[in-house]
Amino acid sequence: MIEMQDVWKEYGNGVAALSGISVQIKQGDFVFVVGPSGAGKSTFIKLMYREERPTKGHIFVGGFNIEKLRERQIPIMRRHIGAVFQDYKLLPKLTVAENIAFALEVIEASRRMINRRVAEVLELVGLSDKGKMFPRELSGGEQQRIGVARALVNKPSVIIADEPTGNLDPENSWAILKLFERVNDQGTTIVMATHNRELVNACKKRVIAIENGQIVRDQERGEYGYED
Ligand code: ADP
Repeated sequence: MIEMQDVWKEYGNGVAALSGISVQIKQGDFVFVVGPSGAGKSTFIKLMYREERPTKGHIFVGGFNIEKLRERQIPIMRRHIGAVFQDYKLLPKLTVAENIAFALEVIEASRRMINRRVAEVLELVGLSDKGKMFPRELSGGEQQRIGVARALVNKPSVIIADEPTGNLDPENSWAILKLFERVNDQGTTIVMATHNRELVNACKKRVIAIENGQIVRDQERGEYGYED
């Protein structure tokens, strides 16, 4: 489902963010990516949906050869990969329902079909009554649930999330984690970079630890393992 083969990433300023990463993530896996700040976690996530390109190596996600994609194929690839961000990245001038519909890049989708799918994902995240509101009218926890709804609207085979609970209190962090567990139970692969030790230690999922741009640990039913 996701495979990296000897992936290197050096940014323009000469910073080596990833140095020889090789990893396989199977369909339906739930993976936490942990490690100190600056270790390369975000870069690892960004490479998976082509927000950054590798300097060297091969990346395959859901049947797409990521580094070989042409520009016009990128939106097609991104429909198969839902992304959730620490700062939600909702569009402030659009309503909640419009934010979700905007991500539904279905060619020839009818208004009725779009409305139905938006209603479905709003119900899934427990916010059916908030569709007409604007992001600023929601709490942080609610905004992130909308972020998850938006990521799910295209029925992606993979969700990648970079610190999705980074701005949330423990209760809201758990709510997001529970949503991820629910979609994972239905077969969606989850890759989540996080500093949230409590969640990682409670969940006993696969843990990939990155330090200095390298995978230093890859455990089934792993632990957070840092004292930060
Ligand atoms: P993490 O998510 O684990 O904190 P990052 O992947 O964000 O780590 O960063 C890894 C390294 O790459 C750090 O040294 C960081 O400063 C550097 N880096 C990240 N993004 C860029 C960028 N756009 N340009 C230059 N250097 C970057």
